[in-house]
This record gives sequence, structure tokens and C-alpha cells, in this order.
Amino acid sequence: MGPGFGVWTPEPPERLNRCTIGELPIRRADGSRRHGGVRGRMTERVVGRTRFVVVDGDITKESVDAIVNAANQSLLGGGGVDGAIHRAGGPAILADCETLGGCATGDAKVTTAGRLQAKKVIHTVGPRYHGRDEDAALLASCYRTSLVRAREQELRRIAFPAVSTGIYGYPIEEATRIALATCADVVREHPEAYDEIRFVCFGASDAAVYRHRLALLDV
Ligand code: ADP
Repeated sequence: MGPGFGVWTPEPPERLNRCTIGELPIRRADGSRRHGGVRGRMTERVVGRTRFVVVDGDITKESVDAIVNAANQSLLGGGGVDGAIHRAGGPAILADCETLGGCATGDAKVTTAGRLQAKKVIHTVGPRYHGRDEDAALLASCYRTSLVRAREQELRRIAFPAVSTGIYGYPIEEATRIALATCADVVREHPEAYDEIRFVCFGASDAAVYRHRLALLDV
């Protein structure tokens, strides 16, 4: 058997980053990696010491330490995921929000989660998309600041929606790239702080974009 035709073996468990069927990463018996064809879509990956998971579903059902809300600057409720979180969590969330004096775009503030299974809600305000450079910086700031707030309160499992990609019009591909790259940067800076980050997509097409981007992420 010539070079490059070694026996293929599955990834050892400690290196396994879970993929969709048919995309299992494999390595040669001599330890070298097979390149090409394995980077399709991934549902779960470990970045540093933190599990990144892509989920297709309703974020209000997540039983994590904190769910992130894509709120508006008033923090007094809105449509989309914001409306869903207030409806499912009940009036205690709004009561808490009313004490906070709003929230600037790119910033994040923490409230009770009311009746939700999550312990806390982290409200962040994404930018309305105008195609300006500052949009990307503000969206990155939403993810980074939300993770700072989580760390401050020792919230180790966090679920994010696709901030700004609904009513605020951010293109899903670009928003996903920013979301994953920013979260990856933060967990590399603070590998001890986070057990799991869940990216909760509302619908299969957004989830497919996230899974593709997760597969492209350098870990
Ligand atoms: P924004 O104003 O920041 O764009 P939206 O709530 O309009 O906020 O949309 C943000 C994302 O949240 C969109 O991808 C939308 O499809 C999604 N979304 C809406 N409801 C839910 C929900 N219950 N769970 C998870 N994601 C949701």
C-alpha cells in the first residue's frame, strides 16, 4: 500500500466533533488527517473547552442557564423572539426590564427568566442592518457582551437566537459568521467560563447556514 492509502479509523472520542451522518471526520492510522470532503455541516463542535451546538427550535423551551433575547433599546417588549420570550416567561421579565432604563445597541443586560426553564434572560440589542461597517462591530458586541454578562453571573450554558436577522434585517450568512467567530474568540479567551453555547435557529434554513458555518470554524 503506497503513501496516502493507510487504513482509515474513526476519530478517537476525545477528538470527536459531532457531525451529520456521512461527515464523520476520519484520520489515517498514522495519525494524519484526511482533508477535503469532511467539512460539510456540523451540529456540534468543541471549541477550546466549550461545546457549540446548533439547534432548530424555539429558544423559550431551552433549559440552559441563560437564554439571550434579541430585544430593542426600550427593553419593554417587541415582536419576534422578544415577544415570544415575554409571552412564555410572563410579566416578571417585563417588571425587571422596566427597572433597567433601556439598553444601547451592542450592549446586554440581565433579568429574571420568570416562568422559563432558563435561570436568566440576557437582553441584547442588535443593530438594524444598513450594510455599514459599524453594523458588524455592533453585532459582534452583542455576542461578546452577552457572554461577559453570563460570565459575571457564572451562567455556563447559554442559548442565542440569530440576533438582528429577523425584523432588523441582517443577512443570515453574514450574521452567522459574526456570531460563531465572536463566540469562538470569547471562549478561547476564557476557556474555563463556558460549558455550552447553543445557537437556536428558528427554522431549518437558518439552521443549515449555522451548521455549514460551524463546520468551517477553526477550532
Ligand atoms: P431582530 O429584531 O434582532 O431581528 P427578531 O426577533 O425579529 O429580532 O429575529 C431574530 C431571530 O430570532 C430571527 O432569526 C427569528 O427568526 C428568530 N426567532 C423568532 N422567534 C424565535 C423563537 N421563539 N426562538 C428562536 N428564534 C426565534
